[in-house]
Amino acid sequence: MRIQTILNRVEKFKSFVYGQARLEEHDAGPALVVQVLARKNGRPFCSGCGRPAPAYDRLDERHFEFVPLWGLVVYLAYRMRRVDCRRCGVTVEMVPWGDGKNQLTTSDRWFLATWARRLSWSEVAALFRTSWDSVFRAVGHAVAWGLAHRDLSGVTALGIDEVAWSRGHRYLTLVYDIGGGTRRLLAVAEERTEASLRSCLEGLGETACKGVRYVCSDMWKPYLNVIAEHLGQAVHVLDRFHVMQKFGKALDEIRAEEVKRLKRDGYEPVLKRSRWCFRKRPEHLTEKQTVKLSELLKYNLRTVRAYLLREDFQRLWEYKSAAWAGKFLDEWTGRVMRSRLEPMKKVARTIRSHRPLILNWFRARGAISSGAVEGLNNKVKLVTRKSYGFRSPQVAKLALLHNLGRLPEPKRTHRFC
Ligand SMILES: [Zn+2]
Repeated sequence: MRIQTILNRVEKFKSFVYGQARLEEHDAGPALVVQVLARKNGRPFCSGCGRPAPAYDRLDERHFEFVPLWGLVVYLAYRMRRVDCRRCGVTVEMVPWGDGKNQLTTSDRWFLATWARRLSWSEVAALFRTSWDSVFRAVGHAVAWGLAHRDLSGVTALGIDEVAWSRGHRYLTLVYDIGGGTRRLLAVAEERTEASLRSCLEGLGETACKGVRYVCSDMWKPYLNVIAEHLGQAVHVLDRFHVMQKFGKALDEIRAEEVKRLKRDGYEPVLKRSRWCFRKRPEHLTEKQTVKLSELLKYNLRTVRAYLLREDFQRLWEYKSAAWAGKFLDEWTGRVMRSRLEPMKKVARTIRSHRPLILNWFRARGAISSGAVEGLNNKVKLVTRKSYGFRSPQVAKLALLHNLGRLPEPKRTHRFC
């Protein structure tokens, strides 16, 4: 069977035919170069306006990277025609396998982008003997296409979150769709300012924002401001994940301070290696941590008292009605304010001042899934870790949208992977 027959089966171009195929030895290894020829009396099209125009001359042969095969880099080689267009003047013709200026064919870009969801970009580049830059551009193309063609009509609930994407507290603002069955990342912006969130919401467009009935966020002031301003019609909920996050820091502080105090006063270092015993939910502890925790709970330690207060607070989420949840909240914060555990009192004060938004959680029940923001947050961390060493926020944004955006792809007659 001829290589041209296979190519015609997987990727046939109207008005063009496959010519000679040759194997070339390049420095990086062997490459299969397949010539492409314009059909006789096939008229070229102007790349400026897309209309047919008379041929003017031919440029030197150019290589377009095609989907690799058998460990070979594959190129389509073609001498592009220039056309003399009545509207645009002398321009290069339009070709169906790519956008002309791009060295990668469209099929190759989708091929690389698909792999870039499964492997790190450098792995994809190494595996298919292309450059990191090509993979980056392939992903950029896939994301741009997906964003332009996605459907935002059914978005009813948004989750707003922030994530540190590199060392040194550099943040990204993330907006998720947490309403229906499909949970996806909708928008990403640098930093976590009012402008970051505003640019995310503006990117979604006014129509999509108007359809939002619930919005979940943490207590970050700039977000609260923008939500009030742009999503005024939606019920604003402070979700469980973000509320419980506040306790982690308080527990750490109390524990660290107590470890120091015990040491100073010459006590046994009972709290050593106990951080995760207190931080994790009891059901997520390992067997060893469970034993350690039950030991520690026998001591009258400040850390233990703070821990028990947090565990008690978890009961809040089991309430069915906002009124009863409110009663519990007031009783609990009152207790904490008498506890002399300063970091916990700080949490209680924050909770008190956001009381209405926390109670909205009970009004939104059923419309948003409780674990959605947390689940997506974990996935974001996985992606950032896999592609550790993002070179720029632009790269981080692309990688996140590509992996978590559930972006659509064009329908193709042949799937290369
Ligand atoms: Zn033209």
